[in-house]
Amino acid sequence: MANSGKRIQMVDLGGQYLKIKNEIDAAISNVLESCAFINGPQVKQFAAHLAEYLGVKHVIPCANGTDALQISLMALELKPGDEVIVPAFTYVATAEVIGLLGLTPVMVDVDYSTFNTTLKNIEKALTSKTKAIVPVHLFGQSCDMEPILNFAREHSLHVVEDNAQALGAEYTFSNGVKCKTGTMGTIGCTSFFPSKNLGCYGDGGAIMTNDDALAQRLTMIANHGQKVKYHHSVIGCNSRLDTIQAAILDVKLKYLDNYCMARRTAAQYYTSKLQEFDPQQRYFELPQVAPNSTHVYHQYTLKIKGGMRDALKEHLAGHGVPCMVYYPLPLQAQEAFEGIAVAAEKLDIAEKLSESVLSLPIHTELDYETQDFIIERIKEFYSK
Ligand SMILES: *Cc1c(COP(=O)(O)O)cnc(C)c1O
Repeated sequence: MANSGKRIQMVDLGGQYLKIKNEIDAAISNVLESCAFINGPQVKQFAAHLAEYLGVKHVIPCANGTDALQISLMALELKPGDEVIVPAFTYVATAEVIGLLGLTPVMVDVDYSTFNTTLKNIEKALTSKTKAIVPVHLFGQSCDMEPILNFAREHSLHVVEDNAQALGAEYTFSNGVKCKTGTMGTIGCTSFFPSKNLGCYGDGGAIMTNDDALAQRLTMIANHGQKVKYHHSVIGCNSRLDTIQAAILDVKLKYLDNYCMARRTAAQYYTSKLQEFDPQQRYFELPQVAPNSTHVYHQYTLKIKGGMRDALKEHLAGHGVPCMVYYPLPLQAQEAFEGIAVAAEKLDIAEKLSESVLSLPIHTELDYETQDFIIERIKEFYSK
């Protein structure tokens, strides 16, 4: 067996940890010895390093990516009934927080080739109640932000980027200016969930903005709505990044570009081998790279043709190759959104994608031998 008894994983967090074990262990034991578990100096330090890496003025750490989205919408002072445009093909959190705050999620379809939110879809959702757009940089590459930002400016809409899956990706504007995802809108949100491209060893998240006043407001909301201790100016929440997680993230941030590169290398290897096997794309379609974004491959997602997705997934699982379906149900089909969300258009692409997508294992520790094993099992399925 080509993979010589090694268990194949969607994400190999253990292998990644072992390579930086000394640094991580030292960072954790520093926190343990100082006992500064809440708001220790590592939290500010990591936020400053991340702000520098992203080229953004403010990074406000918080407890997770979902909180980052919720706090962002709270800071925009929207009122119940206000509409927020959101793609139908994303993780539930993106739209959940909109509903939670009594706002109306207005679902739009996505671009078939990149899985991303586009202006073409957003435009159809504009009404007099529209207040914000939440584009999602799905699977590791940027939405085409320039037209979205221009449209938002024209109609005085806020843009909250859901950057949970694309931290480290870079978008290029038509004038050549490059920006990291999560730094282009009014506010950007990210998650440090362990399997994300920059993951900690528990939950974590952060909010990005270039607006000083908004940064102050976001910080206040994440901290019980207080600027001065025990003096609460607005209703907020309790959303902190643990010091231990910040210390871990501060170590891992140094490796983020290498991690992105490793994912890109693995993706390119899959693409070259799978293209060779299926040059006419009779069996599946390979991931497409958007022309104006780098891709950090949070996921490597195929579109399986001919209704064979579930059978292929089962075949691979039977040979020890885990694969995942992100996402098996588009948001419009989720019970939770009944009577809460509205659809701005027919959401055919979201529906079609949920029936055909299959994400292959991709992570920083993937080697060619393991990829060859996975590719052979795919070929085997189609030669039966
Ligand atoms: C992971 C993720 C989130 C939520 O992040 P958590 O840290 O798990 O709360 C939000 N949006 C998208 C697109 C995600 O992938």
